Amino acid sequence: MFDYIIVGGGIGGVITYNILKKLGKNVLLIEKLNYLGGCAGTFEKDGMFYNVGASTLVGLDEGLPLDILLKILQLDKKNLPVIEIDPSIVVYVGDKVIYRYTDYEKAFEEINKNFYHSNNKELWEKIKKTSSKNWESIYKMLPFNPKNLKTLTKTALKNIPYLLSTFKENTFTAKDVITQYVKNPDKDYISFLNSQILMTTQCYWDEVNFSFASMGLTYPNLKNYYVVGGMSNFLENITKDKKDILRKTKVLSISKKKDVFTVKTNKGNFYTKKVILNRTIWDYCQLLDENLKNSYCEKNIKKYSKIWSSATLYFWIEDKENILNNHHYQVLHERNPYTDSYSFFVSVADQIDNRGGKKSITISTHCKIDFWENLTKDDYENKKERLKEFILNKLYKKVPAFGKLVKGDVMVGTPNTFKKYTERYRGSVGGIPLRREYTMLNYPVGITPIKNLYLVGDSVFPGQGYPGVCVGVFNLLLHVEEDFREVFYRHI
Ligand SMILES: Cc1cc2nc3c(=O)[nH]c(=O)nc-3n(C[C@H](O)[C@H](O)[C@H](O)COP(=O)(O)OP(=O)(O)OC[C@H]3O[C@@H](n4cnc5c(N)ncnc54)[C@H](O)[C@@H]3O)c2cc1C
Repeated sequence: MFDYIIVGGGIGGVITYNILKKLGKNVLLIEKLNYLGGCAGTFEKDGMFYNVGASTLVGLDEGLPLDILLKILQLDKKNLPVIEIDPSIVVYVGDKVIYRYTDYEKAFEEINKNFYHSNNKELWEKIKKTSSKNWESIYKMLPFNPKNLKTLTKTALKNIPYLLSTFKENTFTAKDVITQYVKNPDKDYISFLNSQILMTTQCYWDEVNFSFASMGLTYPNLKNYYVVGGMSNFLENITKDKKDILRKTKVLSISKKKDVFTVKTNKGNFYTKKVILNRTIWDYCQLLDENLKNSYCEKNIKKYSKIWSSATLYFWIEDKENILNNHHYQVLHERNPYTDSYSFFVSVADQIDNRGGKKSITISTHCKIDFWENLTKDDYENKKERLKEFILNKLYKKVPAFGKLVKGDVMVGTPNTFKKYTERYRGSVGGIPLRREYTMLNYPVGITPIKNLYLVGDSVFPGQGYPGVCVGVFNLLLHVEEDFREVFYRHI
């Protein structure tokens, strides 16, 4: 009998597994695919690796979530397969090219040079200050659970100075606050701001509060790392004890008798006292048997309905001269009719990962889910071709080197692809958008209506990406695992 069974080896599942192992618990991790990482994983095709989606690793700066995680796991950053990159991203908008440097002053000069405004300095100081304040306060918000009055009151009391000093930032939209400083920013400036905010909050500037937006706008000012060998390698490296991980094993259903859960898989049944699902608030109910089924997921489908998926392209280039020596490019454009998005993100493998001169490329863009549902097979294949042309035309125009170096076929992924591989509801990715109506007291957390069954991952507080999902795991374990509390508070 296990103390815990974790279903799913995405960022949330793997981080939880490692912490619980470190605490000496008897844990089993079950992953359907042959690699760890889910949306932040790496798949192999014809001798090349491709990052599924995520490609930027942020959160290792002193005191940030992955740094705390490494301390808890007693791992040294120096031994990880990561290379610091700077600039973090190169952004193309209109006829402008903006280098998103890590150094704040350098990054600001780039922005001010391209979008000059006399109040820019004041605005970006405000953004920086708000973002820093959030990072400084994040652990004080834990354990967070707005559904539990006791935790809520405790959290509020602990954070009175923060809440009072950020009331305006947490109440008004990013658009409201930004336009107080820069009245009527031009079209390119708005596109730039929106694309940076969307990347981390899954919202446009009029949907999210200024406080969360500030963290998106300063995301490239945190240290950003390239993971050698692909994103899965980060998780593989922090996972020293792999003996209790079952890969290529799919959980089919979960039932409970007395206080014991039976986790049924295609490779047999396993028994445990507690279950942690690395599934979303929209779909985990699919795994529950009739006795455990409840309306939680249905309610969430209605309540948190504005969600994104992603469309992706994967291909390789021959770049022996290392012409494309930045890792991340972002191209902003007019509306993409196949996704309803206005930008795409390009990730390029590092030179040390070139395989016979070949480097892998992943392009991803936000994508409306219903654009890809209920299509005939022919319509679906045609649409994929047109999506591919749309993106590649834009890319080759902005960064011609890609067009010159591209070789081989281009694979296209849609929301259906994410659904098929990760099992996520309708292929929704990027987690819970930090829209104002979904956050604060409406924030979903990983505690479900079923005793001893919990969720981790990007659909629970505080949201997506490495830093968000990692904080979500800390939050859950502070609620459910007494042994974790002492360890966590020793390291923050
Ligand atoms: C295109 C794209 C780009 C992104 N870029 C970045 C980035 O640059 N940096 C960043 O930090 N974040 C990025 N993100 C966000 C980040 O990837 C996600 O927020 C994060 O990976 C989600 O992690 P998760 O823990 O929710 O798990 P998921 O990724 O949802 O993984 C869940 C896992 O559970 C497994 N599973 C599901 N059902 C079963 C079952 N029945 N049995 C067994 N296993 C099962 C799946 O196979 C999967 O491996 C990006 C996301 C996308 C889609």
